[in-house]
Amino acid sequence: MIQVLQPGPAAREETVPPIRLAIVGFGKIARDQHVPAIATTPGIALTAIASHDGGLEGIPYFKTLDHLLSEGPQIDAVALCTPPQVRRAQAEVALAAGKHVLLEKPPGATVSEIAPLVAQAQRAGRTLFATWHSRFAPAVEPARAFLAERTLRAVTIAWKEDVRIWHPGQAWIWEPGGLGVFDPGINALSILTEILPRPIFLTRAELAFPANRAAPIAADLDFSDTNGLAIHAEFDFRQTGPQSWDILVETADGVLVLSKGGAELAHDGKKLVETPEAEYRGIYRRFVELIAGGMSDVDLVPLQHVADAFMLGRRTLVEPFED
Ligand code: NAP
Repeated sequence: MIQVLQPGPAAREETVPPIRLAIVGFGKIARDQHVPAIATTPGIALTAIASHDGGLEGIPYFKTLDHLLSEGPQIDAVALCTPPQVRRAQAEVALAAGKHVLLEKPPGATVSEIAPLVAQAQRAGRTLFATWHSRFAPAVEPARAFLAERTLRAVTIAWKEDVRIWHPGQAWIWEPGGLGVFDPGINALSILTEILPRPIFLTRAELAFPANRAAPIAADLDFSDTNGLAIHAEFDFRQTGPQSWDILVETADGVLVLSKGGAELAHDGKKLVETPEAEYRGIYRRFVELIAGGMSDVDLVPLQHVADAFMLGRRTLVEPFED
């Protein structure tokens, strides 16, 4: 199964009250992005929080999803912002309780654990939305439209950030299923697989594992497509100084550069897009639409490429990493 976008039996009426949403896992991304995005999205309201970590003043708070479901206020949907290793079980519980489910990226700790959730959502007539926040960046759709009509020559990706700044003390990211540097790197792959006109496949991977960790700190990857397009990607968690979230596409009609994770787009140096980041508002608008239409949206392709990198990658040990 690669992509599912299908109507379920339970389409909502336009005039229904706001979707009552609970956030599960109230860590960095829930606080930084989900809360403000929900607050500014019509049709959805934050109604409860379940997390080990503590909640938000004025919002009913529960330690676990089970407590929330048994003792909390009525909710219609959950946004699972927990680490990927615990999300599948939470999604199963939430769907069994009749809730719509939004999954943070990556959708799971394995590729195959998602298909049963898709089937469960379909049977229950509930929405399952596997989000890729970077696909909502403002440069993505214009880049896709530009590249759809061009001859492509080469793609170069540099996705390099300082893990100590962006993931301070997040032990789960270094555990099996935490993905290491692919946690941000998968964002680049989610954009790439959205903007290129043809499917791509991995041809070579080098993965650098800290001697004391179970997930890579850096990855050097080559991909191609059926036209022989050369795609080279470098992901690195050890970047200090300026951070890079850039995708450069050489075409027969000049060079397209998507930078700052998709906030900016330029063609031969001329800016085409430069917009304040609003990825999570895009996510919540889409979630409201999907629920209203009785649909699910689950694309596993970026996660499949990461799984391929773990399968094909040559591993090297590098110096231990300490937070
Ligand atoms: P985080 O700061 O470590 O937050 C994870 C939260 O989940 C913590 O509050 C954690 O509490 C809680 N949690 C863990 N297990 C739980 C459970 N079984 N039930 C309830 N709560 C539980 O991680 P994050 O950065 O927010 O990342 C979470 C997800 O969002 C990841 O998949 C990540 O890829 C994605 N994401 C992160 C960013 C970012 O910039 N940080 C950006 C986009 C997407 P305890 O710590 O007490 O266990």
